[in-house]
Amino acid sequence: ARYGPTPATLGAMAALRFPDRTALYDEHGALTYAELERQAAAVATALRERIGPTAVAAVAGDEADTRIGVLCRNHRGFVIAMLAASRLGRDVVLFNTDFSAAQLGDVTEREGVGLLLHDQEFDEVVEQSSFRGRRVHTWTDHAGDPLVPTIEELADTEPNAFTPERTSRVIVLTSGTTGTPKGARHDVSVAALVPVALSHLMRVPMRSGAPILVAPPLFHVLGFAYSLVALGLGMPLVLLRRFDAGKALDAIDAHRVEALVAVPIMLRRILDAAGSRPLPDSLRVVVSGGSALHPHLSETFMDVFGDILHNVYGATETGWATIATPRDLREAPGTVGRPTFRLTVKILDEDGRELPAGEIGEIYTGGGLRFAGYTGGGGKRVHHGLAGSGDLGHFDDAGRLFVDGRADDMIVSGGENVFPGEVENLLGDHPDVAEVAVVGVEDADFGQRLAAYVVRKPGASIDEEDVKRYVKEHLARYKVPRDVHFVDKLPRTSSGKVKAGALP
Ligand code: ATP
Repeated sequence: ARYGPTPATLGAMAALRFPDRTALYDEHGALTYAELERQAAAVATALRERIGPTAVAAVAGDEADTRIGVLCRNHRGFVIAMLAASRLGRDVVLFNTDFSAAQLGDVTEREGVGLLLHDQEFDEVVEQSSFRGRRVHTWTDHAGDPLVPTIEELADTEPNAFTPERTSRVIVLTSGTTGTPKGARHDVSVAALVPVALSHLMRVPMRSGAPILVAPPLFHVLGFAYSLVALGLGMPLVLLRRFDAGKALDAIDAHRVEALVAVPIMLRRILDAAGSRPLPDSLRVVVSGGSALHPHLSETFMDVFGDILHNVYGATETGWATIATPRDLREAPGTVGRPTFRLTVKILDEDGRELPAGEIGEIYTGGGLRFAGYTGGGGKRVHHGLAGSGDLGHFDDAGRLFVDGRADDMIVSGGENVFPGEVENLLGDHPDVAEVAVVGVEDADFGQRLAAYVVRKPGASIDEEDVKRYVKEHLARYKVPRDVHFVDKLPRTSSGKVKAGALP
């Protein structure tokens, strides 16, 4: 997604409105909005000198096209890098911290990155990649490679006042669930984001000044979007370098966090960790997004934490398309809610005809962020100005949307269609099952057959026959997995989605 000069503008506005308010808390302590702005300005000044001809030559492109990459975990270095690059009028590309050296090389080249700001822990992957542009280390406590300056050092520079000569954008990559992450382009300015942000606030009661813990990685669309919400509303941003449920609960208590944003697997871990300690009493809003929120998880989470959970559905290409309120989730567990204000969501069949409530088809969305295709070409299927999501779903009679699964993941076994999510939801309810993934594998007789990967709860003894029997008792015969594998953990993307290709 390409967001206009948004981060720098929002940062500057926050510094004018609440100079002395805490802008963020991370492992290094607290930072006010005024200080964040000063450091971003200083880093921008220092970086400007570094985006010289060398960086440009490295990408063999026009100087104006040299982009700045950020490969960084969740801490102030990320926010300062993003604000600094945005002030400079340079496009910023947010990199996935799970990238291999080959992916890093491919994506830096495809996106025209000439300068990379990265955590020291990624030295090896950067050095092994084909990237040959300039490098700066993000915040480090200890001295790293003397040839690579740190953002911390740059932040001591005397900031110059200057205005960017051109508009910068932030490029957010898709999760790469279905292959190499795509760079989805949007042309979005602060003005265009205001209605998008308002449509969110109409459903999710966040307030200025309330500390917000954004747990997903900031390079993923969910983390990125909520870091902008935090800057825009002046909500102190609480960051954990890497997610850990115990640390998240500690941070919620320490900073009186009112709003929590997380992907479902994080909520499950928080729920497990909360069992053994007093519950935080400051939380007022929880947002789940990025992948399917299991009905059983949403119910148990609300039983423990209260009716404060929201489920946000969207994609890097669309932004938030629908939001389920706590009430929606109580009335219709598993729903992703209703379209946000000024956004259209329709269920279309393969010929582009709209389907009535109850019928499953592809989810199409329109309005909200304007998707302008992927970097390097390609786009989504479009019907009547609406873009296909690649997800299959249906509406209920009350106008609430349900995501049945990705079109690509649907398993066709013996001519019958099976959504892995349905079988996963069922098995996820089993008291002995901690996590489960269901995928289709090639089968000589049936075309495809179902394979279940099950993580047992500690001490549980569920076996292959139990799994099959349980599914047979509740669902049609053709939905019973023929292969059952027990594994210690499921391979996941950094946004919490199961990587089917990496299953044993
Ligand atoms: P790639 O396009 O690279 O394969 P991706 O589609 O996972 O990756 P994202 O834009 O991060 O990239 O994810 C969007 C997808 O995530 C949606 O299309 C949908 O399948 C899923 N998703 C997001 N939020 C929800 C939700 N609340 N419930 C169910 N599914 C969700």
